[in-house]
Amino acid sequence: MLKNLEIPDPFQTFISKKYANAKGYVYDWFTGEWSYKCLTCKDDLSAPSRKILTKIRLFHTRNECLGGY
Ligand SMILES: [Zn+2]
Repeated sequence: MLKNLEIPDPFQTFISKKYANAKGYVYDWFTGEWSYKCLTCKDDLSAPSRKILTKIRLFHTRNECLGGY
């Protein structure tokens, strides 16, 4: 059991990637940036990594267009 928890599960990784895509994250190979179009106000957000993009997205929806709330 403990060993299983330590090994990254390929299926879990696949699901999380699929979930990220479902949220509208797009990787731009030309600029090397991740972008996201806000579903509420159609604003384009971009960031150098998906992690940062998530922070920007959360800040945007909470403080700027209140999309998810
Ligand atoms: Zn928005």
